[in-house]
Amino acid sequence: MSDPHELKVLNPATEEVVATVPAAGAPDVDAAVARAARVQPKWAALPPADRARLLRRFADTVDGHIEELARLEVREAGHTIGSARWEAGNARDLLLYAAGGAERLLGSQIPVPGGWNVTFREPLGVIGVIAPWNFPMPIAAWGCFPALAAGDAVVLKPAETTPLTALRLAELALEAGLPEHLFQVLPGHGRTAGRALVDHPDIAKIVFTGSTSTGREVMERCARLVKPVTLELGGKSPNVVFADADLEAALDPCSFLDNAGQDCCARTRVLVQEPVYEQAREFLAGALASVVVGDPADEKTGMGPLISRAQLDRVRSYVPGDAPALRGAAPDGPGFWFPPTVLTGERPDSRAAREEIFGPVALLLPFTDEEDAVRLANDTPYGLSGSVWTRDLGRALRVSQAVRAGNLSVNSHSSVRYWTPFGGFKQSGLGRELGPDALAAFTETKNVFISTEGPAQ
Ligand code: NDP
Repeated sequence: MSDPHELKVLNPATEEVVATVPAAGAPDVDAAVARAARVQPKWAALPPADRARLLRRFADTVDGHIEELARLEVREAGHTIGSARWEAGNARDLLLYAAGGAERLLGSQIPVPGGWNVTFREPLGVIGVIAPWNFPMPIAAWGCFPALAAGDAVVLKPAETTPLTALRLAELALEAGLPEHLFQVLPGHGRTAGRALVDHPDIAKIVFTGSTSTGREVMERCARLVKPVTLELGGKSPNVVFADADLEAALDPCSFLDNAGQDCCARTRVLVQEPVYEQAREFLAGALASVVVGDPADEKTGMGPLISRAQLDRVRSYVPGDAPALRGAAPDGPGFWFPPTVLTGERPDSRAAREEIFGPVALLLPFTDEEDAVRLANDTPYGLSGSVWTRDLGRALRVSQAVRAGNLSVNSHSSVRYWTPFGGFKQSGLGRELGPDALAAFTETKNVFISTEGPAQ
């Protein structure tokens, strides 16, 4: 039996224990929130330029530890080293971007008779951030750093499988000179520490990233306290490939294999126009066979393991051994390995076609024309991201407008930039992170009217 008071962090490529950390319970959450609530007003009262300067110093400190953070991510999450370096750099870049927001937290002046009317953007207080294991560093950063810039304090609960980079970021924040208790990390279980954070009356807002089912529960519990919530949930994103597209670029298997497919933006529904379907199938068979799956610390590796045995079992449940599919290779032995796979015999209404698998598994489906492509692309409860590939610009624009998703790319598979907004339609989420408006999600607007007519007699 595992000890509920500690978390054993496993290297998913070897199943060896990397670290054991204490698991926070509800009393630890209470204490952390109380500490954060004491420091937050002092942080908010600092001149904006001082808050910005401290956050920029935090960014510099992260920059000096990119390789260390990346190696830690390889060990606790099995990310390939190249991706892990990008992730640590993303945390640094977002800090720099958000820091400027502290100096630009603008209100407005609205013309009214008899006086002046001004608005202020005030910090919310203490923010609770609940992060998942698939991108532990960037997702923690997206929730926490704009909140700090807005003048809030943050208590972060990382996923129980991946607490190490979050803990290290909190140490680096102190090293950079951020006030003690402003940015606290509490590793723990979702059902204890996570719930305690959601239910805490002094947590002003929850930012949650994870599964749609847990997100729904978080939202229900927040509703009891009328607590605002940002939700970044699951995806089942389409990759719409028209016959005139650059097929090799459109069918780049990285679009669904990055992070072993444990990516809410993974383009796992590959929709290909009928005239090029067979060509696409042949191309993908060759592409999957050439993916190097193995030690994520090796610079040549293209894909690492899944995060855990539970995730491996979950992914396997969608791919019976006799399922018609194109398959790559994966190592035997210890580690949570699953081969790159493209299912070729699924119906659009099958379980594998509709649910988020969160592993290196896509499915290939044919479509006839533009209308059919849009219908299939939208035939899911999710709406996070997607790609459209065609050389016809008018069609690219029409399809981008018709697909109900928050983040679309035309002739590209990119989804996330720290300076553009990110979030989902439908059951993929609520609210937006990143981009120019990210700080607004961590403030309340206050309206103040100042009479110029003097006090009433
Ligand atoms: P969860 O949504 O359950 O976990 C995400 C985070 O929420 C973790 O920190 C988790 O803690 C915490 N949590 C769990 N239960 C609660 C709760 N009741 N109240 C508050 N916080 C809670 O995802 P899983 O890790 O269980 O993964 C299952 C599936 O979810 C994946 O296969 C994938 O389909 C999807 N998923 C999607 C993600 C995305 O980015 N869209 C990210 C991660 C998962 P703990 O680690 O202790 O469970």
